[in-house]
Amino acid sequence: MSGESADSGTTPVVAIDGPAGTGKSSVARLLADRVGAHYLDTGAMYRAATLAVLRADVAPDSAEVASVVAATDIRLSVDGDGATVVTLDGDDVSAQIRTDDVTSSVSAVSANAQVRARLVDLQRTHADRTLLVVEGRDIGTVVFPAAALKIYLTATPEARAERRHRQNVAAGRESILDEVLDNVNRRDHLDSTREASPLRPADDAVHVDTSDMTLDQVLDTLTELVETRIGGQP
Ligand code: C5P
Repeated sequence: MSGESADSGTTPVVAIDGPAGTGKSSVARLLADRVGAHYLDTGAMYRAATLAVLRADVAPDSAEVASVVAATDIRLSVDGDGATVVTLDGDDVSAQIRTDDVTSSVSAVSANAQVRARLVDLQRTHADRTLLVVEGRDIGTVVFPAAALKIYLTATPEARAERRHRQNVAAGRESILDEVLDNVNRRDHLDSTREASPLRPADDAVHVDTSDMTLDQVLDTLTELVETRIGGQP
């Protein structure tokens, strides 16, 4: 699908924001595939930055994280199956960025304003004339405020924890539902109360509550939104 919009004031971007466990990643990737758009997972960039910080043995909440991230080359691409490939100074770290150590520290690192400024610059380099589906926390508010379509996915903390727990079990990772729920609540709190670009919906975002929806239902809802808001335009 062409990302060009009749309104030259918009960017050919579908911004998908929301807290962890709303199904954002799965749905964003499938949506991009369905509408012929490129896909960008900005959380993977913050995770890669966090891995660099942990490898440098620097405390995730210290000011030093900015210089570690500034000295690190982070690149994102998509493989033949549509999965995000992340490299850190040339090393493929796509699996390492999903470990518990990274997940526990990523909110602290991503609260650093200098880290955010660097990664936002990097995220903007991915936009071109092809429609881009971008998922994150501040895409509609900060990274692409002129996105052609902004979606804010929500779900109750319980529904989100339950989903994460099922994903962990399916992937063979150890998982205790109460702990997953605590982690979801802790990350929500950190992400929405930080000073730099807190998690919040853009004023013009379409809200979709996925608590009682299947992945297919969310995908259909979002596809329809893209088609009516962007696809129909010349
Ligand atoms: O989406 P994912 O759960 O992989 O994101 C990991 C973390 O990265 C989030 O909890 C948040 O702290 C941070 N993040 C962010 N801004 C984004 C994307 C992710 O602060 N645009």
